[in-house]
Amino acid sequence: MTTEYIKIRNHINGEWLTDQNGQYEPLKNPSTGAIIGEVPMSSQETSQQAVAAAAEAFPAWSATPLPKRMNYIFDMQQAMRDNLEELAQSIAIDQAKHIAEARGEVGRVIEILQMACSIPALIQGETVQGIANNINGRLIKAPLGVFCGVAPFNFPALVFGWFVPFAIGTGNTFVYKPSTESPLFMQKMMQLLIDIGLPKGVVNIVHGDRTTVEAWYDDENVTGVCLVGSTPTAHAIAEGCGRNGKKTMLLGGAKNFMVAMEDAPMDLMIDNVLMSGYGSAGQRCLAVSNIAVVPEIYDEFVERLLEASKKVTVGDAMDPDVFMGPVISANAKSRIEKYIEIGQNEGANLALDGRNPNIPDANKDGYFVGPTVFTEVTPCMQIAREEIFGPVLNIMKVGCINGALRMIKNHEMGNGAVIFTQNTFYTEKFINEADVGMVGVNVGICAPHPYLPFGGIKGSLVGNNKVQGKDAIDFFTQNKVATVRVVDPNAGKTTSAAKTDSSVRSCVAN
Ligand code: NAD
Repeated sequence: MTTEYIKIRNHINGEWLTDQNGQYEPLKNPSTGAIIGEVPMSSQETSQQAVAAAAEAFPAWSATPLPKRMNYIFDMQQAMRDNLEELAQSIAIDQAKHIAEARGEVGRVIEILQMACSIPALIQGETVQGIANNINGRLIKAPLGVFCGVAPFNFPALVFGWFVPFAIGTGNTFVYKPSTESPLFMQKMMQLLIDIGLPKGVVNIVHGDRTTVEAWYDDENVTGVCLVGSTPTAHAIAEGCGRNGKKTMLLGGAKNFMVAMEDAPMDLMIDNVLMSGYGSAGQRCLAVSNIAVVPEIYDEFVERLLEASKKVTVGDAMDPDVFMGPVISANAKSRIEKYIEIGQNEGANLALDGRNPNIPDANKDGYFVGPTVFTEVTPCMQIAREEIFGPVLNIMKVGCINGALRMIKNHEMGNGAVIFTQNTFYTEKFINEADVGMVGVNVGICAPHPYLPFGGIKGSLVGNNKVQGKDAIDFFTQNKVATVRVVDPNAGKTTSAAKTDSSVRSCVAN
């Protein structure tokens, strides 16, 4: 693990740039609170410079033969395999994601790259022969230009995988803004892209805050902006991009339900609640948050969950023996603690209080919140409605599956929901009726495999576009349609039949 002071840099037009406007924010290790480096807060000019570099690279890159573009995606995947440990450590250092989970995140991106290697099969167009005499119609999935991407702090590698391989594999160029709280992965990843020989300007990195992003809204070189982040940020970007009709792919926040039916496999469910609720210290968009339990198993579930939660070890993200690392920042810690206070004030029963968890002395200045469990929660409480984004579980009693489905429907977020049951009627009903974008059965985290799209509905997705799978190909391409009249060169003029064919006239007029 590196102990050197980390100087995060922008990467524009093939060059690492250390200082453009001299503004830096400290980069901290959330496990210790120590300052470990600095991140540039790029100006709007720097952000536009990155877009200009991507725009300059676009003509040559989009004209690069598809197999050659694919070679870069294959090489990117191999480079990630070869450097998996270093990439995982980069995530464990600044985001303080537990090292085992960080390895899992990088592994998932490798799978996404496998999916991106299917671009040649997925980007194929369509042809309709003979729409009129000597006239054929053809649909081409064409690249669009420069896309920009904005990442949240909690999945620095995954979000790179959702955006960059699909954008550049389909022939676009890219400007990427990592979160200032977890920029190190992209620094390492960009170096790998350079090492595999990716032409300059195809991928550019700018670090910074909202100012860096706002520079793109009126930049005529920007075709579209993608975000994975909170719902207010998704709305801000939708508004900015709407002004000039730019494309957007905006994944927002979440508040996920788990439903426990009377025949739930209890051991499996408890294991999954721990992984889903406390993994990444609850900072996942698919983390379980509200758990609706039927009366038949409510008491047993609460007892088993509390017993298991008390055994969850909390400590440094680099310590393989702890289960849960810190939350991202001092601000996040105090926001979560505030929600614990709110829950108490609105009448929920604080059955396990994660404030002031037991942590090693070396981590006393880190940002730790331990497993927290509220029971007797009702759907209208603030802790049940709002995204806490920490290791806090709300247990609610629900009479039957219809009641659980109603709670899910009435919630303003709609990312994921899972059910634990062995009954096929419940399973099918839940899959059909749960009002969310991603459903799971007997799994704690219902993250779709990269071959399928990932994204929620309602407040969890602004607009319609989701990441990965075929949806990614559709987002990063335009359906360009060509109408082609075939003229016989020997005739030297169009045939008289074609001139008089009324279907040709209507086709051309339209
Ligand atoms: P955030 O919204 O605070 O920040 C996300 C990114 O947007 C950062 O890079 C930030 O610099 C930038 N940003 C912030 N405000 C902006 C603005 N007004 N205009 C333009 N850019 C702005 O989110 P976060 O705290 O980094 O991440 C956690 C959030 O992300 C949670 O809400 C979580 O649910 C969500 N998330 C969602 C998914 C999903 O798949 N739906 C996945 C991961 C995270």
